Amino acid sequence: MSNKLILVTGAAGFLGSHLTDALLAEGHDVLGVDNLATGKLDNLAHLKGESRFRFEQKDICEPFDFGHVDYVFNLASPASPVDYYRLGIETLLVGSAGTINTLEVAKKYGAGYLHASTSECYGDPEVHPQVESYWGNVNPIGPRSVYDEAKRFSEAAVTAYNRYHHVNTHLVRIFNTYGPRLQANDGRVISNFMMQALRGVPLTIYGDGKQTRSFCYVSDLIAGILALSKSDEHLPTNIGNPGEFTMIECAQEVLALTGSKSELTFQPLPQDDPKQRKPDITKAKSLLGWEPKVPLREGLAKSLDYFKACVAAEK
Ligand code: NAD
Ligand code: UDP
Repeated sequence: MSNKLILVTGAAGFLGSHLTDALLAEGHDVLGVDNLATGKLDNLAHLKGESRFRFEQKDICEPFDFGHVDYVFNLASPASPVDYYRLGIETLLVGSAGTINTLEVAKKYGAGYLHASTSECYGDPEVHPQVESYWGNVNPIGPRSVYDEAKRFSEAAVTAYNRYHHVNTHLVRIFNTYGPRLQANDGRVISNFMMQALRGVPLTIYGDGKQTRSFCYVSDLIAGILALSKSDEHLPTNIGNPGEFTMIECAQEVLALTGSKSELTFQPLPQDDPKQRKPDITKAKSLLGWEPKVPLREGLAKSLDYFKACVAAEK
């Protein structure tokens, strides 16, 4: 892609704002669309005066058309469990109607298309690590289902627009990603632990803390998304860091980095919380020549100043 006009939905969010920066750095023009349900304009404040960036505040659950675009990146959706419990119906709608509306834009203008799907499509996985061919283990009526099933519907919709309308679609299954601009208060584990450690209050471990996650630093994730968007692959592709940590190990990493004396406190495990999660990235490696470069310890260090600023802003 050279000098294209690119639509990014969810541009005011954590990943959308980093993707916008990366696309501008590649020389493209970006139209950012967001309804600010969970994102904030602060994430785009550094682009004030950037003539190649335009922002439209818009709920993508309503059909929309801002004119011709060459590529659509669909990232709009609440993403943290705390956000999607609070915004359950909105999450179902953005994954269904919102995704269809963005696919219609791509179809109308013959634009390329990439949808941000999730490792959550695997639910509480019985196959470990998770490979793309695994269909998952999702409770369709549990509290997480508003997110999981919306994302699974959106994968079906994206695949159907490729199958029926020949839209050049791409599906990335994103595993837990963190870094600067991760919302400080949206309840995700890295933001909770970093904020708690820096405030000097106990780190909240849900359950026994033996459940695992694999954390990808944001620059690695964005590089993987961009590589996938330029590929010919239409089927889902995992992008994540296979380094696997229990939540107790994750807390210990945060304490070691921050030098905090905070204790660990144990709280109830949310219903249907996946016990383990780790991407098999064989496909991304062979297809895209992509693999993550930033280990957790280094990524947390790169995020420290951001979280320090968030804590300072509370005072
Ligand atoms: P985020 O909450 O920071 O960003 C999501 C953005 O979408 C927000 O700016 C929000 O205001 C916007 N949005 C929500 N509903 C909208 C609507 N109806 N119309 C327009 N805008 C809307 O979350 P994030 O971590 O940046 O996640 C971005 C995408 O990546 C999401 O689709 C998420 O499901 C996916 N994802 C993220 C992760 C992760 O670890 N960060 C993991 C898997 C998948
Ligand atoms: N978690 C935790 N303490 C917190 C927040 C989350 O122990 O303060 C756990 C949560 O139960 C889950 C893991 O950390 O097992 C990752 O949670 P997160 O909300 O970041 O993402 P998820 O992978 O569940 O979508």
